[in-house]
Amino acid sequence: MTAEPSRRCGYVAIVGRPNVGKSTLLNHLLGQKISITSRKPQTTRHQITGIKTGAGHQIVFVDTPGLHRDAGRAINRYMNRAASSAIRDVDAVVLVVDRTSWTEEDSAVLQQVERAGRPVILAVNKVDLLADKEVLLPHLGELEHRGRFAAILPVSALRNHNVAALEDEIVRLLPESEYFFPEDQLTDRSQRFLAAEIVREKIMRQLGEELPYAAAVEIEEFSQEEDILNISALIYVERSGQKKILIGDKGARLRSIGAEARRDMELLFQSRVMLRLWVKVKSGWSDDARALRSLGYEDP
Ligand code: GDP
Ligand code: MG
Repeated sequence: MTAEPSRRCGYVAIVGRPNVGKSTLLNHLLGQKISITSRKPQTTRHQITGIKTGAGHQIVFVDTPGLHRDAGRAINRYMNRAASSAIRDVDAVVLVVDRTSWTEEDSAVLQQVERAGRPVILAVNKVDLLADKEVLLPHLGELEHRGRFAAILPVSALRNHNVAALEDEIVRLLPESEYFFPEDQLTDRSQRFLAAEIVREKIMRQLGEELPYAAAVEIEEFSQEEDILNISALIYVERSGQKKILIGDKGARLRSIGAEARRDMELLFQSRVMLRLWVKVKSGWSDDARALRSLGYEDP
């Protein structure tokens, strides 16, 4: 008989409305910027955003593209389907909210998660911003009545406060299982995909209100030339008005998106990056299933 200590492994989704700190939290849970491996994508139904292997456990974080109420357009139908199927298959969900505020959007996300019937940990993020720490305790008490949570934890993703405790709570919910991935594997996403994601994220961050889901990104060139990584990205928008918004006054908006994206890419790829961005109008792309596939929105 072998006396191997049992291992835990499972899929975990981090969900929440935009800007609550999901990406920041994921980065701190992973303990480093996502690094790239050259392995081929695994055959899994999930979009994996990162893999954290600890002492005796492996947490596979998966993506749940936004939860959208307007399900009319192909892009939103796709996003909804992807979100609900991703949530149904995970072992635990981390719902992130912003401090003491609770919005309708938070309720909508929670509802969708509860429908999937997976255990939910509530992470009350950004508590470092609370001037009055006294309000926290009664508020955490109130949150208990919002849903059935496996745990409620105040955290600060940015300051890395209580993130280790959150990881412990996650591990508690994982089944005993062998690891799904080699211990040194951090993500199975391709570098091109991650480059496109970074550009998309910067567009959303800078123009989310004005261009909700109106932009898709295709990486045209991705090549290393001595110590410089050359990346060209084509940004598709629906209408010429959106192209104008994206480019901005004398190109200022696009430059600023490019500058932020390049900084993240240099950190991620550990290389100097030359980034070129182009904007193209391709009307109807977000309502055309085949165009979506060609832009990397794989149907799960
Ligand atoms: P996401 O849209 O949910 O992925 O949110 P992000 O991780 O992109 O974070 C949105 C903003 O909130 C960023 O400016 C973060 O730096 C900031 N943020 C995230 N977590 C914290 C936190 O714990 N404390 C503070 N003060 N800011 C945070
Ligand atoms: Mg994010």
